[in-house]
Amino acid sequence: MPHEPKKKHSKAVKRIRRASIRLEAANLIVCKNCKEKTLAHMACRSCGFYAGKQTREIKQKAIVTRAN
Ligand SMILES: [Zn+2]
Repeated sequence: MPHEPKKKHSKAVKRIRRASIRLEAANLIVCKNCKEKTLAHMACRSCGFYAGKQTREIKQKAIVTRAN
């Protein structure tokens, strides 16, 4: 059998606990190569540069034209 809580938590205790559960904004920095906003400590998503070097290839998205 699992352990049971000895006493019921009050509404205030529940609300204090849940008040700290929230999303935080991502730490965005400006890429030095393309001036695009990108995540810190990660290779740039738009140009693939990290620490002044090309670290990964960026595939150009194929332009799809719909024939109606
Ligand atoms: Zn970039």
